[in-house]
Amino acid sequence: MERFDFEEERLKQEIGKLEARRVLIQLPEGLKLHGPRLASIVEKAGALPIVSADPCYGACDLVTAEAESLGVDLIVHYGHAKLSEYECIPTIYVEARATVEVSDAVEKALPLLKNWHKVGLATTVQHIQTLNRIKEILLNAGKTVIIGDAEHSSYPGQVIGCNYSNVKSIARNVEAFLFVGGGRFHALGVALSTSKPTIVADPYENRAFSVDDEAKILLKKRWASICDAKEAERLAILIGLKNGQQRLRAAMNLKVKLKKLGRRATLLAITEITPIALMQFPDIDAFINTACPRISLDDSKNFPKPVITLNEAYAMLNEITWEELCRRGWFES
Ligand code: SF4
Repeated sequence: MERFDFEEERLKQEIGKLEARRVLIQLPEGLKLHGPRLASIVEKAGALPIVSADPCYGACDLVTAEAESLGVDLIVHYGHAKLSEYECIPTIYVEARATVEVSDAVEKALPLLKNWHKVGLATTVQHIQTLNRIKEILLNAGKTVIIGDAEHSSYPGQVIGCNYSNVKSIARNVEAFLFVGGGRFHALGVALSTSKPTIVADPYENRAFSVDDEAKILLKKRWASICDAKEAERLAILIGLKNGQQRLRAAMNLKVKLKKLGRRATLLAITEITPIALMQFPDIDAFINTACPRISLDDSKNFPKPVITLNEAYAMLNEITWEELCRRGWFES
């Protein structure tokens, strides 16, 4: 059985409704293999499909410029909830909700949550539809369950790699968090942005585990990177060129601040921040990443030099304290 809902019927209907003639399909890594199949559906619906083969990690990375250059009249973006308020080309978002059963993994998480009564719930958009079911399991186990509903999130309980406002909004009221979803990245984000014990229920691997030890190690590594960047003779500030990741003003302000402190910093404009791309600048001792903060976490071991986030740079400059860095979030924009 397919693990995600690609909403094929809706896709056909939207193409008909919008009378689209040329459609650009954008899928995140991990779902790209479905591109050719989705292209066939688009073709049968009467439009010319083009599948974007470039990397995509979020709705911040919408292929609008590419769509314009290809003369596309509809973008179909898979795997993420809408982020942008305005799209210059009609865009439909197919969130690719997961169809995997979460109950078993949640049951396995219960023993790991035994020391806490008040539990906060968090997940990614793929599992939002399961939150009520998960809540019921926790309530039956005698827990009090709280789901954050902060202003700037698409759904209650949802976290994304650079926005943990939902969990931060309830952190004071809970003793621990249960994150339901695959991988460790978002769960680590929950742990780091709330400083609360965080248990993962992973429905794909059907297991539950704590990320607390990993979060502690990660904090030490991040702090070491900040210290290294502080000592760096030559810095570069990365300006992301993806439409929802560009923080030009913040990058320029940072350069001015560094100059006032007698530090040299080069502005680098970049689309894909990869170790190979950064290796082309061997004289740079540390990079400040104003684009997607996830890159600084996920790829840190592969980068030859420290790549700190914007909030970490403010801590490096002593503009914010450790506590404020934890409150703002290490990886939040
Ligand atoms: S900036 Fe990074 S973490 Fe935030 S939505 Fe985009 S890809 Fe995800």
